[in-house]
Amino acid sequence: MIEMKSVSKWYGTTQVLNDCSVKINKGEVVVVCGPSGSGKSTLIKTINALEPIQKGEIWIDGVAVHDKATDLPKLRSRVGMVFQHFELFPHLSVTDNLIIAQVKVLGRRRDEAKKRGLQMLERVGLIDHQHKFPGQLSGGQQQRVAIARALSMDPIIMLFDEPTSALDPEMVGEVLDVMVGLASEGMTMMVVTHEMGFARKVSNRVIFMDVGGRILEDTTKDEFFGKIEDRQPRTREFLNKIL
Ligand code: ATP
Ligand code: MG
Repeated sequence: MIEMKSVSKWYGTTQVLNDCSVKINKGEVVVVCGPSGSGKSTLIKTINALEPIQKGEIWIDGVAVHDKATDLPKLRSRVGMVFQHFELFPHLSVTDNLIIAQVKVLGRRRDEAKKRGLQMLERVGLIDHQHKFPGQLSGGQQQRVAIARALSMDPIIMLFDEPTSALDPEMVGEVLDVMVGLASEGMTMMVVTHEMGFARKVSNRVIFMDVGGRILEDTTKDEFFGKIEDRQPRTREFLNKIL
């Protein structure tokens, strides 16, 4: 359902994605890891065209993301994205944060949007916080609201870019738990993370990117965490650092 074919991208003369091909089937959870600057964020952002590409093709459910004629706002509305920093609107209540894009982008009625938003807030365990403002929530709670907001749009895939790396350690678990729940319910997900516990538990595949924006490995989880001797030297070096 998601396919990247030989995608390359440059910032000026610097190549940041080098001939990347990835296929994600419905219901799969793909974890992307690799050293800083290897292009993980860039890769994930090309999927909803937050970053344009210069070469290759990206397809989401038969829609060509790379095609200039594609209605990008419509496409983006179906691709949930959760970043490292929660990016909630600070001046809006939790409920209004959940509603706004549903009304403005999907054209839902406000009461309908509210119902959907609160269902998702319940799902991330925060229904009691619906009237608060983001500043009154912990980082972990804000990130769960951000996930609920993305889910309210009924996405066909959820993209996560290091969703727990800005959190205090004691809040990482509550966000990962929500993500584990989503994965077990069959949500298609692409997750940039160094949380190898999460990768071990729920991913189907692990992609390792190396500097220069190259996908060095794309293996099943079992292979990835199986015999470390079978991994590429660069992957081994990385795993030795983080495991
Ligand atoms: P990290 O683990 O630190 O988040 P990353 O793997 O996500 O790193 P990217 O943020 O995708 O890496 O960056 C890939 C490369 O592209 C880096 O060399 C970075 O400096 C460069 N880069 C990213 N954004 C821009 C930009 N807007 N303009 C120019 N270069 C950029
Ligand atoms: Mg990044």
